[in-house]
Amino acid sequence: MSSRRCIDDDILTVLWTQDQLSHKVEDIASQITHDFSSSSSSCCPVIVGVATGAFLFLADLVRNIKLPVTVDFVRAESYGSGTVSTGVPKLSCDVKLDVTGKHVVLVEDIVDTGNTVSRLISYLEAKGATSVSVCTLLDKPARRKVHFELLGDGKFYSGFECPDYFVVGYGLDFNEQYRNLPYIGVLKPEIYK
Ligand code: 5GP
Ligand code: MG
Ligand code: MG
Repeated sequence: MSSRRCIDDDILTVLWTQDQLSHKVEDIASQITHDFSSSSSSCCPVIVGVATGAFLFLADLVRNIKLPVTVDFVRAESYGSGTVSTGVPKLSCDVKLDVTGKHVVLVEDIVDTGNTVSRLISYLEAKGATSVSVCTLLDKPARRKVHFELLGDGKFYSGFECPDYFVVGYGLDFNEQYRNLPYIGVLKPEIYK
């Protein structure tokens, strides 16, 4: 049998370990639990993940939120197979749940230029959401191009500030690979050059 390359060998540096990610996710989930538990039960949030990148973060996040929530996904793609955003996120999958009159928490892996969340906030507003919060594991403010306004009394939850590197792991991909790494790291430049 031929030996396969180990995906860890393609990582230059680990930025956040599995343990650090897990503690941060618990922190964010308790903030969400706290913020939404003061509202009546009809206000329990609809958690909308942005596929595919947010799938692991969302799975860990909802298991730590101590409130009844509903879960749905939208699909937005802006990178294709490269490492630079095209700037025009393509929404290729609609929410299944009715978000009319609901408080939505939009869950992202990373906010980079801001194009994707900006587009999705408008989309959820048009669908009748009462508020839209954004919950992102990583925020890369150095690359922000679009200023976005949260809807209603929506809040911005952010895990870690990400330095201006292309990162992979814990849901984040390069060319659809590396999503299954349990940590987040910087990809070796020779992999994408
Ligand atoms: P934005 O629309 O804010 O520019 O980018 C949002 C999407 O681009 C993110 O949801 C993510 O899928 C992708 N993205 C942005 N920065 C990175 C990065 O450093 N690594 C990876 N793998 N994806 C990124
Ligand atoms: Mg994403
Ligand atoms: Mg991607």
